[in-house]
Amino acid sequence: DYDIAHVFIVLGASGDLATKKIYPTLWWLYRDQLLPKKIFFIGYARSNLTVDDIKKKTHKYLKVSNDQTKLLESFFNVNYYIQGNYDDKDGFEQLDKKIKELDMCSHRIFYFALPPTVYKSVSSLIHLHCRAAGLTRIIVEKPFGRDLESYKDLSKHLSGIFTEEETYRIDHYLGKEMVQNLMVLRFANRIFSTVWNRDNVACVTISFKEPFGTQGRGGYFDNFGIIRDVMQNHLIQILSLVSMEKPVSLKADDIRNEKVKVLKCVRELKLENVVLGQYEGDPDGEGEMKEGYRDDPTVPNDSITSTFALAVLYINNERWDGIPFILRCGKALNERKAEVRLQFRDVPGSIFTTPNVIHRNELVFRVQPGEAVYMKLMSKEPGMLFDCHQTELDFTYGSKYVGIDLPDAYERLILDVVCGNQINFVRSDELYEAWRIFTPVLNEIEKQKIKPIPYRFGSRGPKEADELAAKNNFIYSGTYKWIPQKNK
Ligand code: NAP
Ligand code: NAP
Repeated sequence: DYDIAHVFIVLGASGDLATKKIYPTLWWLYRDQLLPKKIFFIGYARSNLTVDDIKKKTHKYLKVSNDQTKLLESFFNVNYYIQGNYDDKDGFEQLDKKIKELDMCSHRIFYFALPPTVYKSVSSLIHLHCRAAGLTRIIVEKPFGRDLESYKDLSKHLSGIFTEEETYRIDHYLGKEMVQNLMVLRFANRIFSTVWNRDNVACVTISFKEPFGTQGRGGYFDNFGIIRDVMQNHLIQILSLVSMEKPVSLKADDIRNEKVKVLKCVRELKLENVVLGQYEGDPDGEGEMKEGYRDDPTVPNDSITSTFALAVLYINNERWDGIPFILRCGKALNERKAEVRLQFRDVPGSIFTTPNVIHRNELVFRVQPGEAVYMKLMSKEPGMLFDCHQTELDFTYGSKYVGIDLPDAYERLILDVVCGNQINFVRSDELYEAWRIFTPVLNEIEKQKIKPIPYRFGSRGPKEADELAAKNNFIYSGTYKWIPQKNK
C-alpha cells in the first residue's frame, strides 16, 4: 500500500494537540522517510489560518536541525489548510475536492484532534462527503465518553458509519516502549511465565505519577477527574497486558480478544476500594508548587474533583482470584513516573532468622522516565559473614542500549495506522469493559459528593492511599537502597 498516495487530514489543526504532538510527529515520520512516498497533509479547522501560520506555530516543537531546513520545506510543500466548520457540509465538500485534486484514489486518514463534542457530526460528515476511493481510516482521541452510557452512545454512532477495521482509538500508552515490551518479557521468558499467577504474586501495583498540577488547564480536567483521565484508559490498558492469558498469535484481534477476556473478569470497582485526593499548595514550595488545584483560575473554587486516586481491582479468574491489582495515579506528586510492580509472596518456611530479614521479591517495569526492568532480590552479603541483604538484578535501557533513540509513542502509533496495524489500538469492547468497571463508582462519587482527601503538592499523595495498599497485601519495608551503576 506504500505505493498508493496517502492523505493525512488533521481535524482541529489549530489546536493544542495538533500543534504540540501531531504536526511534529508527522514531520519526524516524513523526515525519517517512514511514510509512503506520495503523501499529503491537510489541516482542517474553523480558524482563519495558512500553512505558513501552522509552520510558525509548530516550529518550536519540530526539533529541526540545521541540515534539515530543505527537507522541512519539502514537508510544508505537501501541507495544505482548509478552513471549515464541524457541523455543515460545505467545509467537508471543499476538503473532499482538495483531496481529489491531490490524488483521485488516495487512502485517507483522518485524525480527530478535536473536542469530543464534535466527534459525532465530524464523523458523519466525513462518512457522507469525504470517504476515499481507497481506504478510509479515522483516529480518535480520548475521552471516549464520560461513562458507560455516553460511551455506548458515541460507539453506536461511530460503529454505524465506520467499521472496526477503519477505527483507531488511540491510547498513547500503548505506543510506549516498555508497555510494548510487556508482551515479549511475559511470553518469551519461561522464568516469568511460571510465576505469573496467584500462587506466587502477592499484589500488582500500576502507578502513574506526575510532578506538576493542571497548569491553568484545569477547566477541561475538572469535568473529568483523574479516574477518567488516566485510570480508566492508560492504567486499565496496562493492567490488561499484565494480566491477560497468552494470545493465540500476535495478530491484533488475537491479542485484543485476550485483553477483553481478562477485563470481563475484572469485578466492578467498589467505593470502599478507592482513595481519592486533591492537591493543595505547598507554602514552602517553589513556583507552581505554591498553588493548589482550586487556585487554578479555570477550576471552580468549590471543586471536589480528584487529582489523585488509588483503586484496588480484583480479577475473578483462575490465574488471579484474590490478588489485588492496585492502580494509583496522581498529579502534583513528588516525581514523574509510570511503572508496573509485581510484589511476590513471602518465602515459605524461611531458614534465615534474626537479625536477617527476608524481604519480598519485586519485579518492576519502569515505563518512564528511563525505561528499566529490575528485580529486587535477597543475596548473601559479600564477605566472611552469612548475612542476607537486599539487592537487584538490573536491566536499565540507558546502560544497555547506549545511544539508541526510542521513537515517541505517537510516532509509532501513527505509523501503525498508515500500515493498518491495529495491535496497539483499543477495540470497542475493551472500552466497554473499562467503562463497566468504573462507571458505578464514578456515579457513586458524584451522587454522594465525596470529598477528596487533601494532599500537599510534591508529596506522595494522601497517607490513606498507602494504608489501603497495605491492607491489600502490599508491603513497604523502607529498607531498599538503590545505588546506580556508575557510582558502584
Ligand atoms: P483544543 O485545542 O481545545 O481543540 C482543538 C481545536 O478544536 C481548536 O483549535 C478549535 O479549533 C476546535 N475547538 C475547540 N473548542 C471547540 C468547540 N467547543 N467546538 C468546536 N470546535 C472547538 O483541544 P486539544 O487539546 O488539541 O485536544 C484535542 C483532542 O485530543 C481532545 O479530544 C482531547 O481530549 C484529546 N487529547 C489532547 C491531549 C493534549 O495534549 N492536548 C492529550 C490527549 C488527548 P477551531 O476553533 O480553529 O476550529
Ligand atoms: P522503594 O523505594 O522500596 O519503593 C517501593 C514501593 O514502595 C514504591 O512503589 C513506593 O511508592 C512505595 N513507597 C515508598 N514510600 C512508601 C511509604 N512511606 N509507605 C508505603 N509505600 C511506600 O523501591 P523502588 O521505588 O523500587 O526503588 C527505589 C529507587 O531506586 C527508585 O527511585 C527507583 O527508580 C530506583 N531504582 C532504579 C533502578 C534503575 O534505574 N534500573 C533500579 C532499581 C531501583 P512510590 O512509587 O510512590 O515511590
